Amino acid sequence: MASSTRAGANPKADRLLRWLITRIRKDKERFIRLLAKKLIYPDSGCVEWVGQYNKNGYPRQNACVDGKRVYFYAHHIFWTLKNGRAIAPDREIDHDCDNIRCVLHLEEVTREKNLEKRDRRQAARRIGPDVPF
Ligand SMILES: [Zn+2]
Repeated sequence: MASSTRAGANPKADRLLRWLITRIRKDKERFIRLLAKKLIYPDSGCVEWVGQYNKNGYPRQNACVDGKRVYFYAHHIFWTLKNGRAIAPDREIDHDCDNIRCVLHLEEVTREKNLEKRDRRQAARRIGPDVPF
C-alpha cells in the first residue's frame, strides 16, 4: 500500500504539478488569461477546452519542461489546479459528464472504474442511451 502512494511514483503527474507551480509563480495573471482564452461555456453546463487536441480528440496543452516540449491533457491541468496536488499514482481522471473536452466535471478514479465507465459509454453508443443495464 505505502509503496503505491509514495511521492514520485507518477512522474507525469508530478511533472505537471511542477510546471503549474512554476508558471503560476512566474506570472499568475498571464497564465490564467492564457488558459481562460481556451475555454467556452456551452449550455450543457460543461466547460470545454477549445485549444489543441490529440488524435483521439483529447484536449491538450503543450509546455516546455526542463528544455523539452511536452504535452499535458487539459483535464489533468484543471483537475490539478483545482485540487492543488498531483494526480495519485494509481488513479486516472475521468470525465463524469462523458464529454472528453470538458475540464469541469472531473473525478479521480481507479483504472478499473475508468475502464468500466468507458465500456458502458461504448455500449450506450452502440446500442443507444436507454439500455436498461
Ligand atoms: Zn462536463
